[in-house]
Amino acid sequence: MRLEAEFLCSALTIAECPRWKRAEIALAGRSNVGKSSLLNALARRKNLARISKTPGRTRCLNFFTVGDRLALVDLPGYGYAKMARAEAEKIGRLMEQYLRQGHNLKALVLIVDARRGPQQEEFTLARFLQNRLSRVGNDAHLIVVATKCDKLNRAERGPALRRFEKIGAAPIICSATTGEGIDQLRRQILDVVSPHRTDVPSVTGQATTQASDDS
Ligand code: GDP
Repeated sequence: MRLEAEFLCSALTIAECPRWKRAEIALAGRSNVGKSSLLNALARRKNLARISKTPGRTRCLNFFTVGDRLALVDLPGYGYAKMARAEAEKIGRLMEQYLRQGHNLKALVLIVDARRGPQQEEFTLARFLQNRLSRVGNDAHLIVVATKCDKLNRAERGPALRRFEKIGAAPIICSATTGEGIDQLRRQILDVVSPHRTDVPSVTGQATTQASDDS
């Protein structure tokens, strides 16, 4: 299964976002959570996500095309302790606007450190997604990823995963280091535009029943 992503452009405002018919899947996570490593692992490219980290692009929405119908939107990393407050607020506003208004947004991949579990910021992002329906009349799926799972031993996994229960979607357990969960995440992302659809957890945590795809 391939996910061939190519960097297209960066947007510092909603007005700068591309206008197209592609389904968009956004990736969000706090700074240093492993979002770039995950994007590289998904695309099987070493340095694809480096673009999002170049000066000037770290506070942008960075758009990557995948095939003809899909785009990945790398949202700016949040929660960086050394970031100036004004800068953090700008990033927060841009993400909020995108999550509330992005008409093509079909899913949000919320990347969380498996050891830390979801915090206030992640609950807030999930809530923005829930609020979309009334604004754009278009629901978007929440895909939660518990990453860096290689740092958990077997005994730590259960308690760590229980910390995800409140966010309302069972996490995909991933590691960019070992490759665990990457195929599953790639499949869920590609399923958004696939004619063979699968059970995708909605933001409310209830799976939407669809035809399955075992490819
Ligand atoms: P970003 O700021 O969210 O884009 O995070 P990066 O992808 O740059 O990763 C931040 C740090 O975490 C780097 O030192 C990575 O090598 C490390 N890292 C990323 N993913 C994993 C993982 O799955 N397991 C482990 N052990 N380390 C990881």
